[in-house]
Amino acid sequence: MAKKKTLTNNFGMPVADDQNTLTAGNPGPALMQDVHLLEKLAHFDRERIPERVVHAKGAGAYGYFEVTKDVTQWTKAKFLSKVGKRTDLFIRFSTVGGEKGSADAERDPRGFAIKFYTEEGNYDMVGNNTPVFFIRDPLKFADFIHTQKRNPATNCKDPDMFWDFLSLTPESIHQVTILFSDRGTPKTYRNMHGYSSHTYKWYNDKGKYFWVKYHFKSEQGIQNLTREEAEIMKGKDPDHATRDLYNAIERGEYPSWRLEMQIMTPEQAADYRFDPFDVTKVWPHGDYPPITIGRMVLNRNPENYFAEVEQAAFSPGNFVPGIGSSLDKMLQGRLFSYHDTHRHRLGPNYHLIPVNSAKGCPMNNYQRDGFMRVDDNGGGAPNYYPNSFGGPEPNPKTGEPPFEVSGIAARHRYTHPNDDFVQPGALYNKVMTDTDREHLIGNIVSHLGGAQKRIQLRQTALFYKAAPDYGNRVAKGLNLDVKDVKRLAEMSHEERAQATMSEV
Ligand code: NDP
Repeated sequence: MAKKKTLTNNFGMPVADDQNTLTAGNPGPALMQDVHLLEKLAHFDRERIPERVVHAKGAGAYGYFEVTKDVTQWTKAKFLSKVGKRTDLFIRFSTVGGEKGSADAERDPRGFAIKFYTEEGNYDMVGNNTPVFFIRDPLKFADFIHTQKRNPATNCKDPDMFWDFLSLTPESIHQVTILFSDRGTPKTYRNMHGYSSHTYKWYNDKGKYFWVKYHFKSEQGIQNLTREEAEIMKGKDPDHATRDLYNAIERGEYPSWRLEMQIMTPEQAADYRFDPFDVTKVWPHGDYPPITIGRMVLNRNPENYFAEVEQAAFSPGNFVPGIGSSLDKMLQGRLFSYHDTHRHRLGPNYHLIPVNSAKGCPMNNYQRDGFMRVDDNGGGAPNYYPNSFGGPEPNPKTGEPPFEVSGIAARHRYTHPNDDFVQPGALYNKVMTDTDREHLIGNIVSHLGGAQKRIQLRQTALFYKAAPDYGNRVAKGLNLDVKDVKRLAEMSHEERAQATMSEV
């Protein structure tokens, strides 16, 4: 039998008794000098860190990415430089709006965040299981998230808040249509796709750049829960997707995804019929057919959830040479927000937590100190740049090629408002099957039915604008007068908002 380890306190001192508090007499008051009791309670009191303000509930796994097609004409990223090349990665799947204890089967987008441990630093692809997003301007983000959380007075989820905001934000209609299809309740994390949603930049070793979108396609195939199945699952096993991922990997059934890319030249982007950086839209496959370039496999579970999954921190701002940002405004907001929320949640040195630290290369810079600086803090090496003591030097060859930007600085309004309805219309009319449409309408009616009638009318007018049949069927399900819906759909956004300020 293996020799038992001695129990110690956090500083290595052996503990003689871990069951009986030191008291004066028996029974008797506890003594202040029971430092073991005090330390144990004090540490326990501090076990919880702030939960993520979004994506609080999640599950993670390790795996690898393998390149299956030569992409060097588009990017010089070293981890993508050769067919057959493998890079280790960590992925975290999540829901968005619920708290850390919420059910995995909630209707919600699913986070799909990957950290590639490359030889040029960590590259994070922080996507979702939907190819688009609700809003295209980061100024709206905090408001949007508030509406998906709890009412400030009742502390309950609130269909009025939820639909009031969305119905006053017509660009959300595409994502709302996806969210209320059965893809809003994936059967497991293994049975859903992952999308960058945003457009990113790839640039090659000649300084030429391209706009790209990532699509990770599930090799297990799409499978969803119906609304009724999801309702049952929430009660039966609130952790069903977390459990499924862990158990599948333990069984050796390693889930995998094919990476397909859509690639657009800057010239094509300049002439495209809509704004290719608008995250409320996809690039239709007919225009930009996805090209398969690699495969991701998940083959190892974390050993400790808190250390590896809860403390994992991703940022769309973690690029490597060959990959950069685009003009997508939502992405620009996220470039700030992710690092910032992790500094709040985990502290300024969260990059030193093993799951977050670079593994394929060293980390060398002049940043020092701060809470939880747990490495050697640069030792005695210089802590300023420039210096003549042999400190690390920037390498200009790794920089992004210069790109031209010009324009008038202003709070520009989006100038293609009618675009908002074209793609959700195509999804409803051309992509969905009869069953998909029937489930979509049922899912919407059961949720929107909880909102005030004026909000129901305003939102249903948006469905009508995407496809009259869509609006008519939601109206029928909610017992709304289709004539009212049609009248609101024909108004401008401002008129519709005004007309539905109070009960119609
Ligand atoms: P395609 O027919 O080439 O592709 C349709 C896509 O829609 C497929 O990727 C399919 O995924 C996906 N899809 C099917 N059902 C749903 C659903 N309920 N919710 C979300 N996606 C679904 O068409 P286009 O490229 O011309 O696009 C038409 C519409 O399809 C778009 O307006 C958009 O709403 C939707 N779509 C388009 C995507 C794109 O990148 N072009 C990506 C995802 C959706 P799968 O093959 O796995 O079933």
